[in-house]
Amino acid sequence: MAIERTFSMIKPDATERNLTGKICAMLEKNGLKIIASRRTRMTPEKAAQFYSVHSERPFFQSLCDFMCSGPIIVQVLEGENAVLKNREVMGATNPEDADEGTIRKQFAVSLEKNSVHGSDSLENAKIEIDQFFTDEEIFS
Ligand code: ADP
Ligand code: MG
Repeated sequence: MAIERTFSMIKPDATERNLTGKICAMLEKNGLKIIASRRTRMTPEKAAQFYSVHSERPFFQSLCDFMCSGPIIVQVLEGENAVLKNREVMGATNPEDADEGTIRKQFAVSLEKNSVHGSDSLENAKIEIDQFFTDEEIFS
């Protein structure tokens, strides 16, 4: 297995409920090392760019509004098979389908307000990391 990097976000529904530490602890407990982290806010432009793959979906505008509704935490995670591992720790997109012990099962409030984002491929991880971090901000 290869050491990978992936991009993670803690979404506004989770920062609002002060869950940042609990979510980071679950990532770390599962072998994902937080090698960059910043609390910030999405702008409408940045949200639309980040979720552009979903621009034709009916939930797109609502999703972008939600992502701009409060602070987010943007992170780079590193570890063995980090992309897939993070998706496993996150759980399914819809918390009703998420496995026990996953972040979304434990914390998500709805399909939209599902507490975390994680890159879905190594290729997208690199693209997403580059949207938020320079190499000088990442320390493994
Ligand atoms: P994931 O975040 O698991 O990769 P997607 O990339 O399919 O899921 O969707 C991006 C985000 O858009 C989801 O995490 C969720 O916040 C939101 N979303 C996805 N599908 C829906 C839907 N049918 N209705 C409302 N929001 C949705
Ligand atoms: Mg996705």
